[in-house]
Amino acid sequence: MHQSVLVTGASSGIGEATAVHLAHKGFRVFAAARRIEKLNALKALGGGKITPVALDVTDDASIKTALAEIENAGAVLYGLVNNAGVSVMGPVELVSSDEWRRQFETNVFGLVAVTRAVLPQMRGAGRGRIVNIGSIAGRIAAPFQGVYASSKHAVEGLSDSLRRELAPHGVKVSVVRPGFINTPFGHQEQEALERFENEGPYADQVKTFKAWHARGHPSAPGPSVVAEAVHNALTAQRPHSRYTAPPKMLGALAMRNLFPSAVTDRIFERVNGLNAHRKEEN
Ligand code: NDP
Repeated sequence: MHQSVLVTGASSGIGEATAVHLAHKGFRVFAAARRIEKLNALKALGGGKITPVALDVTDDASIKTALAEIENAGAVLYGLVNNAGVSVMGPVELVSSDEWRRQFETNVFGLVAVTRAVLPQMRGAGRGRIVNIGSIAGRIAAPFQGVYASSKHAVEGLSDSLRRELAPHGVKVSVVRPGFINTPFGHQEQEALERFENEGPYADQVKTFKAWHARGHPSAPGPSVVAEAVHNALTAQRPHSRYTAPPKMLGALAMRNLFPSAVTDRIFERVNGLNAHRKEEN
């Protein structure tokens, strides 16, 4: 049976790779994002199984129109991959309130809005899968990543509640947590950090962190490792509540769980070079 799945944020990176991977695995994929021209280009890679859908997850009217399009195409969604996301980087103190809101509007409220819109259909069918793309940052919050990390911590919490609420309705919920993945996301984060590296009280720290971050993204794995995890979450008979991609990131998560913060803070500071900026209390 060709099951239908909606992938948000499919015009780039992880969403694009996931849409293509799922199409090759036999799913009928509704690939959604704001940049419809990029989705039209993606169509050619899907062997006739990808349908582009214009969707802004922060706009209720856009969500309604997108779901009507899917219904008119005769599809009943089996899966929803909540992947659309942005990253607002910078010191918690200095990022503007508007930027804080923009972060949560997309990564949290947008995810919730799309999920709420598809749930009546899934509950009605008594089956379905929701895969929320979280992040390692949903468990480990680096400095200058507080805005983004708090949005991904929210995704972790709401996914736990959803999973427990929906289990009696036959709908299964998983979180896929990518580590550093080589996509345009890294450039977006670098640009966001640039605003804080030349002036202000955190400039030196931001410069050090940005240099470490710049080394991480290009050498990171490509998005197919996440696409495979999403496929597992959609097809396993008993999907895990969490998938980590690449799996080697499980080491960092274990360390976070096992050691006290004083120890992990020192380890992470050594890794990203911020130990050079540490000052003990006067
Ligand atoms: P990209 O920047 O490559 O892609 C982001 C996607 O989100 C684009 O397709 C963009 O499409 C879409 N998007 C952004 N805002 C909206 C919106 N308002 N409505 C609909 N779509 C939107 O990033 P990645 O592929 O790397 O990231 C995808 C997900 O993976 C995100 O949730 C991110 O937090 C997560 N992640 C990524 C990591 C990485 O290292 N790359 C690590 C951990 C998690 P458009 O602009 O066309 O609307």
